[in-house]
Amino acid sequence: MRVFERLDQYRHWTAEERLILDQVRRVAAEIIAPAAAGHDKESSFPWDNIRALNQLGLNTIFIPEAYGGAPMRYRLYLACVQIISEACAATGIIYATNFHGMKPLIDFGTHEQKFRLLPIIANGGLGALAITEPEAGSDATGMKTRFREDGDQIVIDGGKLFITNGDVADLMLVFGKWDGIADPKGAISALILERGTPGFQVLRLEDKMGHRGSSTAAIAFESCRVPRANLLGEPGEGLRILFGALNKSRPSVAAHALGIAHAAFTDMTTYMNDRRQSGQRIIDFQGNQFSVADMATDLAMTEQWLDYVAGMIEAGETDVGQEASMLKLRASDLAMRIAIECVQMHGGYGYCTDHRAERLMRDAKITQIWEGTNQVHRQLIGRSFAAR
Ligand SMILES: Cc1cc2nc3c(=O)[nH]c(=O)nc-3n(C[C@H](O)[C@H](O)[C@H](O)COP(=O)(O)OP(=O)(O)OC[C@H]3O[C@@H](n4cnc5c(N)ncnc54)[C@H](O)[C@@H]3O)c2cc1C
Repeated sequence: MRVFERLDQYRHWTAEERLILDQVRRVAAEIIAPAAAGHDKESSFPWDNIRALNQLGLNTIFIPEAYGGAPMRYRLYLACVQIISEACAATGIIYATNFHGMKPLIDFGTHEQKFRLLPIIANGGLGALAITEPEAGSDATGMKTRFREDGDQIVIDGGKLFITNGDVADLMLVFGKWDGIADPKGAISALILERGTPGFQVLRLEDKMGHRGSSTAAIAFESCRVPRANLLGEPGEGLRILFGALNKSRPSVAAHALGIAHAAFTDMTTYMNDRRQSGQRIIDFQGNQFSVADMATDLAMTEQWLDYVAGMIEAGETDVGQEASMLKLRASDLAMRIAIECVQMHGGYGYCTDHRAERLMRDAKITQIWEGTNQVHRQLIGRSFAAR
């Protein structure tokens, strides 16, 4: 296990960053992890966890100072996501979704928009990102939600599906098509919807396999009126904003998946050292050692790739689509693989709820589906090598 501790040492965190990470680890161990099984069982939203994270100021580390934030490096944000997700994947995705929804506002919004809206998040509000629709999943360009200009307002009609934080968000970044632009891709636009807007409706919350403490909402917009001042960029700039946003949210969901992978790896190896059969520990069987070796190696390599992609983004590189896809693909496949092996190494006990192995396996599955399914990522990566 020292290999992962050494990897962290070579990240060269500053003293301030180490202090923050120590605080996050403490809250994860003392508050978040002990409550995870209960939130999973009851499907209850982990408000206590969110309050504890906000008390540490984690809701401000991606917000510029001018708008109420206390910004830190992107790599530090990713490390926080990983630590939180290792303790409770549901809390991890609620926290990360704040970033996914609000980062495009930070990157593409005007000073006026950021000045007006970002303090809501800095003061503890939650964000959401609404792209998916019943008939527009992997192909987001098929979305049907309409934005119609009416004086100094935009009228939204349509609906979204599977929206994380959709019922609890104070600010929601919504993608839709601008009325009057014929090109289906060129019409995609983005705006911020504020909590309490008349015509916004939560239709239902999904009953899910995993991440049961996080809420996943089907929502509807019925003549929802939003100030035109909430439009990000110009009409038709949505796709550019979406691609820019995905480059930063994909490393974030990869960090979340790596949190699950680490939790599963730790539980698995701890149990393998403890459990004895045929007179020896199950980690002493060579076949099992080969399996652990492969998983540990892939985990260490994927962590390094996360650092590499984070470094590119911190350096201001914007063309990181392939690297981010590779990271999301590998981290999520690994989370699923290690979670399955964790159950397997626990034998029959792994199939029962006394251990968290079965929860980790349920939590891991969605990481291969959201933020672009892994088939889509394989396609994007493979296609990039095709000669034009
Ligand atoms: C718990 C949860 C939380 C979510 N949170 C959010 C959120 O906060 N905001 C948001 O906007 N969305 C969210 N989503 C939606 C998620 O991103 C989509 O479910 C995902 O993009 C897949 O879309 P789909 O479900 O419509 O599947 P489909 O696109 O219908 O795909 C079905 C199958 O077909 C395959 N497929 C589709 N196209 C291709 C292709 N070109 N090549 C090969 N195979 C293909 C897919 O890989 C998949 O296996 C969430 C979903 C869940 C379940």
